[in-house]
Amino acid sequence: MTDDGTSPQPAARRFRVATIAGTTIDVRISFVVLAGVFVLLELDRQVPLKLALLWIPVLFVSVLIHELAHAGTIAAFGFGTSRIELGGWGGETFNRRRAAPWQEMLISLAGPASSLALAYLVIWILPSLQQAKTNTLLLAFMAMMAFANQKWGLLNLVPILPLDGGQIVLHGLRHVVRPALAFTFATWLSLVLSAVLGAAAAFLYQQWILAFIALSLVMQNWAQWKEFKKWIAGREAAHAGEGDPSG
Ligand SMILES: [Zn+2]
Repeated sequence: MTDDGTSPQPAARRFRVATIAGTTIDVRISFVVLAGVFVLLELDRQVPLKLALLWIPVLFVSVLIHELAHAGTIAAFGFGTSRIELGGWGGETFNRRRAAPWQEMLISLAGPASSLALAYLVIWILPSLQQAKTNTLLLAFMAMMAFANQKWGLLNLVPILPLDGGQIVLHGLRHVVRPALAFTFATWLSLVLSAVLGAAAAFLYQQWILAFIALSLVMQNWAQWKEFKKWIAGREAAHAGEGDPSG
């Protein structure tokens, strides 16, 4: 995900793990919780502890590479350093900028493209590692990296805000219609798709994690939509307040 605003999280709930070329990398408590849930779900499926714990480096490396791809593209366009936070449902890259819609589209695309490229790179080298009888833990790590990055890359391409796919739709629309209409269309597309995705995940596939993610996306988009309507109403009231300049 990318975002040009500031983090909603208070500084006390995140800790810095690294700074790369001026871009800071923080981990939020929610990331630790998410990794913990993955480990617990694996243990519940009778996966040995050693393998279940591999989810911690898999999630960390996968999300970090995805966010670094966003930050790297932002820097390549000359918008300076970013602040990466690992947390929530994955990660976010914060950077204040005024980019053209096509630049925003490429910044958003860079994340899922890097996840999918990493997944297929691992899938490509995995057979040679298996033949070379590499350490089984490393093999398991690589297989999980391929799985996680493929899923993460594809999930992020779904055109639901604030996922990268939703951002690509939003900024793509800014090329053809005015910003308010682009936002309205992208938000309603997100609301409908996340509701359908959530219902399908829950009632057809009993995929509870996906259903929960979809529900949180519905709530986020609904909150965004209400904010947007409030902002529009405020703007209209301000215009009305200006009155007739001749009066
Ligand atoms: Zn992303």
